[in-house]
Amino acid sequence: MKVHIIGAGYGGLTAACLLAKKGYDVTLIEKNSSVGGRGRMFEKDGFKFDMGPSWYLMPDTINEIFKILGTTADKELDLTRLDPHYKMFFHDETISISKDMKKNYELFERLEPGCTPKVKKYLADAKYKYDVSLEKFIEKPFLKPSELFNKDLLKEGKKLDIFKSFGSYLDKNFKSDKLKKILGYTMVFLGGSPKNTPALYSLMTHGDFELGVYYPKGGMNALAKALEKQAKKLGVKILLNTNVKKIKVVNKKPVEIITDKENLAVEKVVVNSDYAWAETNLLDKKHQTYKKKYWEKKSIAPSGLIVYLGVKGRIKNLDHHNLIIANDWTKHFNEIFDDPKWPSDPSYYVCAPTKTEKELAPRGCENLFILMPAAPGLKDDEVTRQKYADYLIEDLEQKVNQKFKDKIITKTIYSHKNFKKDYNAYKGTALGLSQTLFQTALFRPKNKSRKVNNLYYVGQYTNPGTGVPIAMISAKIVTNLIENE
Ligand SMILES: Cc1cc2nc3c(=O)[nH]c(=O)nc-3n(C[C@H](O)[C@H](O)[C@H](O)COP(=O)(O)OP(=O)(O)OC[C@H]3O[C@@H](n4cnc5c(N)ncnc54)[C@H](O)[C@@H]3O)c2cc1C
Repeated sequence: MKVHIIGAGYGGLTAACLLAKKGYDVTLIEKNSSVGGRGRMFEKDGFKFDMGPSWYLMPDTINEIFKILGTTADKELDLTRLDPHYKMFFHDETISISKDMKKNYELFERLEPGCTPKVKKYLADAKYKYDVSLEKFIEKPFLKPSELFNKDLLKEGKKLDIFKSFGSYLDKNFKSDKLKKILGYTMVFLGGSPKNTPALYSLMTHGDFELGVYYPKGGMNALAKALEKQAKKLGVKILLNTNVKKIKVVNKKPVEIITDKENLAVEKVVVNSDYAWAETNLLDKKHQTYKKKYWEKKSIAPSGLIVYLGVKGRIKNLDHHNLIIANDWTKHFNEIFDDPKWPSDPSYYVCAPTKTEKELAPRGCENLFILMPAAPGLKDDEVTRQKYADYLIEDLEQKVNQKFKDKIITKTIYSHKNFKKDYNAYKGTALGLSQTLFQTALFRPKNKSRKVNNLYYVGQYTNPGTGVPIAMISAKIVTNLIENE
């Protein structure tokens, strides 16, 4: 049986491997010149930049996929556990989160004396949520309400804090503003805010503190390359530089994919390209499960302005992962979700992978990735892009107490219009759909079309949600759906 997959992001790539492993004849079609989707890499002036993801999280989940393919993450990747995990820059001090929990507890006690038992309970609850979600929720397609409203899950549901917001959960448990930010920043990974993200997602803190933050040699993109290697080994045909224009449907079944190169006869189709764009552009209206109006009402996850910098010389006071936290981070969240506009006092993230792997830059140079989350759908004209790039560089100079602007060898700015052009991203989103209560599980766009048989969806817009390991899990869901039909 033939399966054609549109898009070679982490969802599409993983689905290609898993389906080929099951014996399907898989063709993977990708519009760009390399695989990895938002996790591609580009090279410029001797620097190698991971374009999107840089945190290798949930190593157990990723390893599980490699195990299904008959290997392990350790065999395919050269992984290092980072220590410190990351550094946080507050207005009056910097704080490093260590892989050693003893050191972290000393830090938490300094921030909020007497908090240790509460943090221990918080982390135990986070582990419980993580384990239950992985065991009972995460690989479900949630096609029917009974998958959510069954006795088992309703019993767990209360303990999982699905109906509380992450923000109020932190406020209830802790007083220290810094401690709340340390425990809560992971919600940004889900494209949400403290107000709109369910407290269930404090499970991410378990991943952060206890499972660890890893780095694969060669950059995060090494993971995409490792999956590409597996796909090729399993006989997947990979068509790069091939833009899909239409899915032709006859008698409620996909019969042909029209691309800018050739037309392909198809039996089963898995869509990994942005769900909103694919539904409203690749299918005729009568075959769309989620029409334009549906997407207009959704909470779309942030886009971001990214500055890729190659700098001559080394930058002191930075770690591999760095979070620069604005004094009032609520304002930045409001400017993303409630009153969309370019941020007035942004929090942002800086990755300096050359702190771990010097080879990602010419000798003696630093490779920097600066990411400022921004509301989706904003106009990113050249003046705005340059203004924010300058702001971020100058602000970072102050934070690290070192001038480097005149040592910049290469600078690339990437934002909304690039996400749209490169990935057909709806409103230029970086992360797809926010993980709000009403966009989770049963309420998330389905992994299977309701209107067209043999048509499936994989990746960050679908269940379970956003993030590299999570998009990989969505590939497991789709593989099971196809297998069990
Ligand atoms: C800046 C940034 C930082 C991030 N940081 C992290 C992180 O540190 N850790 C983490 O775990 N996650 C992170 N994420 C999230 C993570 O990268 C994504 O959730 C995940 O990569 C999404 O994978 P996906 O399978 O949904 O597809 P995508 O990566 O969106 O891939 C979809 C693919 O479809 C292709 N496509 C689109 N249209 C067509 C067409 N018409 N024809 C053919 N192909 C088409 C696209 O080119 C693309 O390759 C980050 C994301 C971004 C953008």
